[in-house]
Amino acid sequence: MGCGTILVSNENLICLSCFIELPKSNFHTQNSISIGLEEYNFIIGLYKYNNDVIQQLIHALKYNGKSSVGLVLGIELGKLILRNDKYEEVDLIVPVPIHRNKKRKRGYNQSYYIAKGVAKIINAPVKEILRKSEKGKSQTAQKKYERWLNVKDSFSLKSNSKVQVNHVLIIDDVITTGATIEACVKAIRKYGKVKISIAVLAIA
Ligand SMILES: [Zn+2]
Repeated sequence: MGCGTILVSNENLICLSCFIELPKSNFHTQNSISIGLEEYNFIIGLYKYNNDVIQQLIHALKYNGKSSVGLVLGIELGKLILRNDKYEEVDLIVPVPIHRNKKRKRGYNQSYYIAKGVAKIINAPVKEILRKSEKGKSQTAQKKYERWLNVKDSFSLKSNSKVQVNHVLIIDDVITTGATIEACVKAIRKYGKVKISIAVLAIA
């Protein structure tokens, strides 16, 4: 999917030379990481979003039915999580949900597949405990503050899911403003005291 070359047997989706060229974000190595007012155990972003191949891969994952991109890159994200100094054992991996209409149209939630890839490496269960309650307008058309207002209360816990865990890892494809992640954290915090970490494929 990067350069269009024919893959050899141990390559998956993109060739090895494109794969090693993917721009690492090193987001986890920066010192003052905060998104809004929430506190996190760790926040990790694997790649920089500002790159043609990354955007191509994520586009394929979201809009062209290539759920396997999520698994393959999720495995890489999992390896990065394990290597992180601040890594602590995770009890539950929670993908950021998409609205059910979007899920019906797309066929799946892309973050679920990323979470599945991460789960293979860090060996924790994936559970879709969050629901996106309102559809809202397309985020791309809105200004930053409007986006924020739009997503701030748009996630809630599914009523049948009980979290009695110590450490939850939230998974998403891309962080842009951080509003989506913060809204998810807010919903999970309603359960009470739980450590929360974030891992995403790309940082915009
Ligand atoms: Zn290539």
